[in-house]
Amino acid sequence: MYDCIVIGAGVAGAVAARKLAEEADKKVLIVERRKHIAGNCYDVADDYGILIHEYGPHIFHTNLEEVYEFFSRFTDWYAFGHEVVAKVGEELIPVPFNLNTLHMVYDKEKADRLEQKLIVTYGEGSRVPIMKLRENEDADVREIAQYVYENVFLKYTMKQWGQKPEEISPEVTGRVPVLISYDNRYFQDKYQGVPKDGFTPMFEKMLDHKNIEVMLDTDCRELLSFAENQIYFKGEPFNGEVIYTGALDELFDCRFGRLPYRSLDFHFEHLDEDSYQGHSVVNYTVSEDFTRITEFKYLTGQLDAKGTTIVKEYPFAYTGAEGEIPYYAILNEENEALYQRYKELVSGMKNFHLLGRLAEYKYYNIDAMAKKAMELAEELQK
Ligand code: FAD
Ligand code: UDP
Repeated sequence: MYDCIVIGAGVAGAVAARKLAEEADKKVLIVERRKHIAGNCYDVADDYGILIHEYGPHIFHTNLEEVYEFFSRFTDWYAFGHEVVAKVGEELIPVPFNLNTLHMVYDKEKADRLEQKLIVTYGEGSRVPIMKLRENEDADVREIAQYVYENVFLKYTMKQWGQKPEEISPEVTGRVPVLISYDNRYFQDKYQGVPKDGFTPMFEKMLDHKNIEVMLDTDCRELLSFAENQIYFKGEPFNGEVIYTGALDELFDCRFGRLPYRSLDFHFEHLDEDSYQGHSVVNYTVSEDFTRITEFKYLTGQLDAKGTTIVKEYPFAYTGAEGEIPYYAILNEENEALYQRYKELVSGMKNFHLLGRLAEYKYYNIDAMAKKAMELAEELQK
């Protein structure tokens, strides 16, 4: 009855399903355990009519033309250059730390001198990861590195990961490099913004295809089982392609122990005032227990809405308890080795494919995830 079964209706599952359905005329069943599609990109109007991102703020950004074009088939965009500020003392300073930030932190004479030094050392427009900047032996550069380390990275990273910047994968802090430019944007990608009517309607259009059926509120473990490299769907052998975008350890009852993840508690508040912080995202890099506050109207462009809704993010170690969501894989050798043990359990099933931030235990942005899904769907058509 189905040619393919896709587990999960997030970016990975939805993009792969659409491609297989329309390019290869495959009959695709998507099984999603939540009550909605769109995975962690899901957005919905709250009780006050403000569009909120239930699983944390999501901004689409990419340099990948094919991904931008693919999504643009299903949505128009509210395009903007996403800017973030960090609250340091009473000041709001641009993050990533850039030359504007440098001039806010130091007096003019010193900032001018340091700016020249950074440009000579790294080149105008370059992006320098904080852990690289800290290795520089020049006293001036070290001073900047120390300022950025202490005021931007140390406490935020301790909250987010429960570890110091030097203890986590450099790939993670490298996502927010020091910018040797006056660009205040968080991302430097060509395309950035959010779908004009929200992410969920974009996913609805993507999945609106005669060959796609979506089954919500259903855990795939109710339908799928495995024995001796054979996949069973409702107890019958299934020889079509299966794409799995959930956590790999869960599929095997965590038999080797749980894959470690960081999770987040989102505290939403609606305020009877038209503006709370005047910015879409303020990072709390030296104080508070939460990492950041998002004020949605500045993210979605609902600037005329009455009142405002904000969300605070409180990180914690995922335990697998009911209701917790694994958001971030914790990238290190030990966890990767554990992941590989689980991966071996499925390596003999040639029609079973791991795709997604959970299933691949990787740190993907939306665009990279979409690209990976497009590639897998193309591969499966050969
Ligand atoms: P998901 O969106 O997690 O989808 C997986 C789906 O599978 C879920 O819906 C889940 O319910 C379902 N599922 C799992 N197990 C089962 C099962 N057993 N049975 C049935 N269904 C199952 N990226 C950006 O590009 N820009 C951003 O601004 C950005 N902000 C982010 C903010 C936060 C707080 C987080 C956590 C991530 C952010 N990301 C951002 C990353 C982005 O969320 C991911 O790239 C994207 O969601 C990955 O899609 P996915 O399909 O792999 O995962
Ligand atoms: N980070 C930080 N301070 C900031 C912003 C980021 O310390 O103001 C660090 C932190 O460790 C974070 C990582 O850089 O987890 C990556 O930040 P990014 O904004 O890319 O995280 P995400 O959007 O994935 O939560």
